[in-house]
Amino acid sequence: MRLSDEVQYVKWIGPPGAELLARLNILTVRDLLWHAPRRYEDRAQFRNILDLQHGEWATIRGAIIGADNMATSRKNFIVTQILIRDANGGVATITFFQRPHLLKRFDGIRQRGSNIIVYGLAKKLGYGPVELERAEWEEDKDSKDSLSHGRIVPVYPATEGLPQDRIRKMVDSVLKTAVPTLHENLPPEIILKYRLLARQEAARQLHFPTTLAYAEAGRRRFVFEEFFLMQVAIARRHVHRTQFETGLPFKFNSKQIADELTQISAFAPTKAQSRVIEEIRGDVTSGKPMNRLLQGDVGSGKTYVALAAILMAVRSGFQAAIMVPTEILAQQHAIVMKRWLEPLGIQSLLVTGSLKVAERESARKLTSTGMVDVVIGTHAIIQEGFEFKNLGLSIIDEQHRFGVLQRQALMGSGLGRHVLVMTATPIPRTLTMTIFGDLDTSILDELPPGRIPIKTHWKKPTDSESVYHSLRKLLDQGRQAYVVCPLIEESEKKQAKAASQLAEQIQTSLLPEYRIGLLHGQMKIADKDEVMRKFKEHEIDILVSTTVIEVGIDVPNASVIIIEDADKFGLSQLHQLRGRVGRGEHASFCILIGDPTTEEGQMRLQTMQDTQDGFRIAEVDLEIRGPGEFFGTRQSGAPVFAIGDVIVDKAIMEETRDAARQLVKSDPDLVRPEHTALRQAIAAAESRIRLASVS
Ligand code: ADP
Ligand code: MG
Repeated sequence: MRLSDEVQYVKWIGPPGAELLARLNILTVRDLLWHAPRRYEDRAQFRNILDLQHGEWATIRGAIIGADNMATSRKNFIVTQILIRDANGGVATITFFQRPHLLKRFDGIRQRGSNIIVYGLAKKLGYGPVELERAEWEEDKDSKDSLSHGRIVPVYPATEGLPQDRIRKMVDSVLKTAVPTLHENLPPEIILKYRLLARQEAARQLHFPTTLAYAEAGRRRFVFEEFFLMQVAIARRHVHRTQFETGLPFKFNSKQIADELTQISAFAPTKAQSRVIEEIRGDVTSGKPMNRLLQGDVGSGKTYVALAAILMAVRSGFQAAIMVPTEILAQQHAIVMKRWLEPLGIQSLLVTGSLKVAERESARKLTSTGMVDVVIGTHAIIQEGFEFKNLGLSIIDEQHRFGVLQRQALMGSGLGRHVLVMTATPIPRTLTMTIFGDLDTSILDELPPGRIPIKTHWKKPTDSESVYHSLRKLLDQGRQAYVVCPLIEESEKKQAKAASQLAEQIQTSLLPEYRIGLLHGQMKIADKDEVMRKFKEHEIDILVSTTVIEVGIDVPNASVIIIEDADKFGLSQLHQLRGRVGRGEHASFCILIGDPTTEEGQMRLQTMQDTQDGFRIAEVDLEIRGPGEFFGTRQSGAPVFAIGDVIVDKAIMEETRDAARQLVKSDPDLVRPEHTALRQAIAAAESRIRLASVS
């Protein structure tokens, strides 16, 4: 039996069982073996009902001494109640709502003279019998059934029509048939050093443990295995990149670039910017390809760092490309870059999906002949198969907005080329280790000087009118404002409509004497451009917008952002939106309007009020949403592990990374005989691992 075999061929399961398992996404022997129990119940010792304390979870066993369906005062609402007495005479009740058909099954259990096993939360009020709430139960069918009886019993994530005892039988069967063929895939030195269970033993203990400690050891072994395979793959790639690949060596005059930067920019770099620029210089001149992740909170000045990197490329005779996730951002970058680069005689070009056919052809030609040095655009650059004459540097800005596949395509094209990935979403370390295991990281941990912290206020919708009213003062002082309309997830169209309605309302009744602009995703590119240009040049006072302004937009004179229905936005998103203001020398304000009904919503707004630290905000966000959501589920590129959890099992992740680095250092190609099984396991898992690492 092989791990990749379908479960229908396993004894005891067959096609009917396979159909049920498919509902749990269990298709193969591997899936079933790695279907880890959700928890365990110690049925070696059932609790004495008389000893149960209020508020504790417990498993009891006893006979059903009464069962009945009862009507309630609510029409058509039926309650089923059973009474259970255990061997010591203690009595407990369980109540079920709207499941009258259960009564027949309870009667059956009574008639057969069987016991019932119940796991639940004890509730003890007054003098009545203990009530077990949120109960799970099953018939204590047969004391010969050693899988559900007299031992520590696994409880699995289950589904309708597939009771626990049936899953247990299936798992037992797969353990009997498949485990003897499970090969050890971790090298002996690793097993010894990290005190791991052997693979076969771990499989048995994971499902039917001798003690709870063994259950944990079984799980640990498999989490270790999952993480380790990935970390070895990452470590090998890293070694390969740093030792064997040659990067295009940039040769430029550092003094010249420093002078040019001074000449074209109005400010001096911050210490952090200088440090990161120096790190990049080290990479691109090293002869190895650069693979660097730059994390910097909104407004920390990543664009300037990108500019410096671009100059290094261009002054070494190479082309450079910047890719961003939205057209608006591409246009903005194009304007900024042009302003910087043109005085130096460097040609830049904007490429987006909305170029006309003739424009695209001309852009293609300019790029492939090397007539332009810098191409700025959306992923249209790769989609349209743009060819460069001699591309030396790719920069990906605001990477968190790209899906993992786009990211792979962006990074994976072109050997030896230097890649700089920039993000404003601080990524916790355990996640960088998994998603970007192969990247070096730099952090811009300093904001440009003179920034006045943004004042954030949380207001109730009833205060809305006075919020808009007090906007007048700032507008009259010559400032500008953003207003973000409520989030509507159903459709782009409805979202656009909401934005225009809000704009209309502000124009007609709230602030008629000001110039209002409107921006949303359904507008034509040319119209969007025009609105952005007007806002930049202060021909518009208030820009009413959807979240299209979320990333990167930079209008320093805008000092207020009002976010309607703020509690509906994600925390990181709110932080990004707030980052639109506080970019100039003016005191800035972020007004969150919302009346959250959930605790989570309140926590989001409270956190926004309390801190402006992007790393802190990301941490809270991760806590609230978990890693999958945090990176926008499926597309996120956060690898999906069968058992391990990158947050909960953080310590194991770190262990495996160290172990992997050490092993790869001593045997980079895994050619030693004791590493053969490991090499094969990684090859077999490659498709799963590849998703985990982008480079
Ligand atoms: P990010 O992309 O990191 O969010 P930007 O690159 O858009 O930030 O920079 C935000 C603003 O700060 C821009 O207006 C930029 O011109 C300005 N800026 C960048 N670096 C400095 C600096 N060293 N001193 C003063 N202003 C700076
Ligand atoms: Mg930016």
